Amino acid sequence: MLTKDLAICIRAVDYSETSQVVTFFTRETGKIGAIAKGSKRPKSAFGGPIEILSHGKIVFSDSSDRSDSSREKLATLTEFEPAYGGPGLAGLHNALFALNCCYFAAELLDHLTDDYDPHPELFDGFLQFLQDVQKNDNKPQILALLILFQLGLLKEVGLQPILDHCVNCKTRYEHQASSIQYPVYFSSSANGLVCKDCEPAFPDKIKLSRDAAACLTSLKQIPEAAEKTLKEIQRIFIRHFTELLGRPPKMAKYIVRI
Ligand SMILES: [Zn+2]
Repeated sequence: MLTKDLAICIRAVDYSETSQVVTFFTRETGKIGAIAKGSKRPKSAFGGPIEILSHGKIVFSDSSDRSDSSREKLATLTEFEPAYGGPGLAGLHNALFALNCCYFAAELLDHLTDDYDPHPELFDGFLQFLQDVQKNDNKPQILALLILFQLGLLKEVGLQPILDHCVNCKTRYEHQASSIQYPVYFSSSANGLVCKDCEPAFPDKIKLSRDAAACLTSLKQIPEAAEKTLKEIQRIFIRHFTELLGRPPKMAKYIVRI
């Protein structure tokens, strides 16, 4: 059966001299693994080797039986028509940082979604994130976009952290920095914020600065936050993803020093 979809390449590894195995995050089908036969040949049907983060229309044949939950068989990519990638990163001062943030986001997406489990809103959000980041030359703004993407990803895969009240005693946080019952802690095991009365029960908790607590309880403050605060939040997220994945994300060290 041939399936047409919009897709973003989130992983690409060489399979042979001439072929690649690629992982696409598709809009309607979800994540798929596919073999791109002959993609590395000079006259490839895909316009050359398929690059991670490239996006466009794909056609693939899904040889596995949809009722078979194992799904170990790769689909076969028959067409890939890359879309124009936008302004490109050349010349941007923070291009490498922006690119590393995109790779980091792709890595998280790969590990937190299941094959053939569609998330169209997450697809749209990821594509928007890639486009926004790749035309941004301001490091704090790139970090803010990454933080918001990670929150969107967690929400889409059913792991949304609890940020508007203490996970344990349900005390609500007011959305004003001045009125937050400080100190506030983040706990991965609790999947959210815990208050000063409850924190002794959560050995993995991390104390937040006042500014980081303000941002996490009122996400609209994130785009305006100082770089120091964004780095603090990103460090907490990396620890959180390390817990979720059972190991640190490979790209983590290129985003912020832990
Ligand atoms: Zn509490």
